[in-house]
Amino acid sequence: MCALRIISNADLWTISDNQKRFGHLGTRDRANPSISYDHPGKTNALLTAAQSLQSAIAAGIFHTHLAPLSMTISTRYATSAEALRAHPEEYLNSLETASSDALERAKRGEDPIAPFGKEADVSPGTYNAALRSVGAALDAVDTVLSDASDTAFALVWPPGHHAEPIQAMGFCYLSTAAIAALYARDHSVQIRAGHKNRVVLIDIDHHRGNGSAAVLANQPEVLFIDQAYRSHYDPRLQRYVDGPYDPATDTYEGAGREFPYEHTDKFLGVTAHPMASAPNIHKVEFEGFQSAETVIRTFFTRVMPAVKEFNPDVILWSVGLDSAKGDPVGGLGLEPESFYTFIKGMRLAFPDIKHCGILEGGYHPELGAACIVPTLLGFHDAPEQICYDSFSPYQGAFKK
Ligand SMILES: [Zn+2]
Repeated sequence: MCALRIISNADLWTISDNQKRFGHLGTRDRANPSISYDHPGKTNALLTAAQSLQSAIAAGIFHTHLAPLSMTISTRYATSAEALRAHPEEYLNSLETASSDALERAKRGEDPIAPFGKEADVSPGTYNAALRSVGAALDAVDTVLSDASDTAFALVWPPGHHAEPIQAMGFCYLSTAAIAALYARDHSVQIRAGHKNRVVLIDIDHHRGNGSAAVLANQPEVLFIDQAYRSHYDPRLQRYVDGPYDPATDTYEGAGREFPYEHTDKFLGVTAHPMASAPNIHKVEFEGFQSAETVIRTFFTRVMPAVKEFNPDVILWSVGLDSAKGDPVGGLGLEPESFYTFIKGMRLAFPDIKHCGILEGGYHPELGAACIVPTLLGFHDAPEQICYDSFSPYQGAFKK
């Protein structure tokens, strides 16, 4: 049996002429349309890195005792009933119609991309790509709950953790991880007879998982832990004040890297966004950039006890690689190997629990590629196999 199965909708990312016109094309940067952080090339860098890891393991180059890494393409579309777990029918219809309208524009040779939500553009393939992100995540849940593999990782695009029930946001259209969490809870395979599966969703993306929170608030048997960056905000100035001040442009460099925004800042042109809160939502926020050590130590003291107390059957991960230091849209402060530390550590701490990852943000192709390898290894290697020396100082803390 393979330790990790990667399940992807990567066939949609091929940058063929057809895909360039009719695919999911990502979201443009409004301030600078020539820059797009959300594009298939970025995602392809992750796929290439995953394939290289697979080859290196098969050749015995990376680690002589690792099992083969399996990677499959999921062509599963989330059904209406599955998507309706998070979104009302009217919203799903509006997303489908927006994609159809984009397709008509593409056929006429016009620019197909149009704004749909908050920083979430729609192109001809968006609706189908989003349904297939969810489908692949549900395949990943099926994989671990049916014991076809110990762990699974949904390498999908577009991401989902910002998508609220009636609001596409931040490159996200359907609330993939939250739908997967509810699907895992209600799955035909119940770990403890007579009980719903108890599911923890841990979001380690740089940004807030507002969509997952909105869908999962007050859902029984589900705990959502949202680790995120919070910007410095000066209530007197009513401005985000991260980074040094530039009097020439009257701006704070790097300000407002939180998302969605907790406060209104008219200088940045952003408005406060209401965030769901509920007893089953556990927020772990860091004000300003951090060292990886600080983030990992906080994980020990705040996240692990909450997970232990909740006593889950399944742990899902919203893995946002944009929490790595240097990401142009995020950059909380993790090192690439930090992703291994979190995931491997929690597998050691909870060895009998099913672990399943779902890709979220990450906007620097090379940095993302550097982070996806330790992420996948965190899910892949056997408990006694330690692939990174940097994990050793934390090993004891996770085993407590
Ligand atoms: Zn993010």
